[in-house]
Amino acid sequence: MHLLDDDIQRVLFTDEQIAGLVDQVAADISRDYAGRSPLLICILRGAVVFCADLARRVRLPVGLDFMAISSYAGTKSTGTVRILMDLDTDIEGRDILIVEDIIDTGLTLSYLVDNLKSRKPASLKVAVLLDKPDRRKAAIEPDYIGARIPDEFVVGYGLDYDERYRNLPYIGVLKRSVYTD
Ligand code: IMP
Repeated sequence: MHLLDDDIQRVLFTDEQIAGLVDQVAADISRDYAGRSPLLICILRGAVVFCADLARRVRLPVGLDFMAISSYAGTKSTGTVRILMDLDTDIEGRDILIVEDIIDTGLTLSYLVDNLKSRKPASLKVAVLLDKPDRRKAAIEPDYIGARIPDEFVVGYGLDYDERYRNLPYIGVLKRSVYTD
């Protein structure tokens, strides 16, 4: 039987280590937004696992909404961001926190930030679990970062390769043979 784990070259963060990263980000958000009620915008699909854990660790009455976008095919960014599903909430005057799985070139997040800023929120910040700073093309720095990682393609904890591996409980580097097959 072929298990998902067989395609992983090495584990980057165990589920316990991820919980520690999420706790740190949640503590920073709870401190910075004390007395406020930010709206967490979960970017589908990659951020769904991170956002679900983060929302439960933040000690504030947050709101939750979702946006689905697509920018990737396989392991390469296509460069064009498409909104597949938009927010349900009017964000004008709200404190907005975009929750994203990973920032790589930054093109996806800079598109999203520009798009959401045009809707006149009171404030707009970005939280990512992982940051791959080596390949940045857009001038954007997330406000909250779980961990910085080297330029390798990672999967698990919501992150996919062609819609697979999202349900791995840990984050790992995919074997090269998987995408050259
Ligand atoms: P960017 O526009 O290049 O910053 O890419 C951001 C998006 O690409 C993320 O939302 C992910 O969906 C995807 N992505 C970037 N790097 C990885 C990776 O290592 N594994 C899985 N998805 C990735």
